[in-house]
Amino acid sequence: MRIWAVANQKGGVGKTTTVVALGDLLASRGKRVLMLDMDPHGSLTSWFGYDPDSLKHSLFDLFQHQGKVPEGLPAQLITDTGVANLSLLPASTAMATLERRMTGVEGMGLLISRALAQLWDDFDYVLLDNTPTLGVLMVNSLAAASHLIIPVQTEFLAIKGLERMLHTLHMISRSQKNPLSYTIVPTLFDRRTQASNKSLNLLRDTYPHQLWRFAIPVDTKFRDASESGLVPSAVDAKTHGVRAYHRLLDDLLAQTGTWLEPSGG
Ligand code: ADP
Ligand code: MG
Repeated sequence: MRIWAVANQKGGVGKTTTVVALGDLLASRGKRVLMLDMDPHGSLTSWFGYDPDSLKHSLFDLFQHQGKVPEGLPAQLITDTGVANLSLLPASTAMATLERRMTGVEGMGLLISRALAQLWDDFDYVLLDNTPTLGVLMVNSLAAASHLIIPVQTEFLAIKGLERMLHTLHMISRSQKNPLSYTIVPTLFDRRTQASNKSLNLLRDTYPHQLWRFAIPVDTKFRDASESGLVPSAVDAKTHGVRAYHRLLDDLLAQTGTWLEPSGG
């Protein structure tokens, strides 16, 4: 099982879209994919037609057992997306209260790793969609992940959110044995605008080794997809946005080639 977290301490940069696009493409290539909605806003959950305000069971349930994960619970929380091979562990808005409740609970930062350890045989890939806020949910994601994908909007000041994210990553990595590898992915790129080109060049100069070699273009099909609850490839498999995500997926697969041993426990 490979676990990829998609995170940036900035909203509106394409995190959720990246999770859906990569999840959809991996599933269409025959991989068994699970997406986790780690964001109390529940955009990923809403994308697939579930209401994060009224869900009875969600990822929230994993945090209700004093830092332990009861056997079988993670599997019970997984729902269908309507897309073959693609499953979802949904969010509920109640997750916004976790910061307050979980402070000081032992093992609270490893709950997602432990939950995923139970699903080791059921999925090939896990994608974690994150909230922009640094807190217990983000800490859980970074602890569980084997690779981090950081979408960065190619616009003025975008690099600020990225710097904050990298600072968080270094802080958390220091307390872990193996620092988490990461890929910075330029998103919402519009080659006709100066702002997009300028910020892409700045990213290239600043992060020559971690920056993905291409960029995800602005593609209105993605907006349509999230509104209609479809996966991007179902809207139009040949659109330039989907093709860019295919290329990103190829590079990520090449880059993160080694398979992980189970962790958590
Ligand atoms: P985040 O999860 O980081 O907040 P989203 O994935 O929700 O960001 O994207 C923010 C908005 O931008 C959404 O309305 C989404 O549909 C749109 N969007 C994301 N990626 C693209 C893209 N490549 N082209 C056009 N619109 C996009
Ligand atoms: Mg989001």
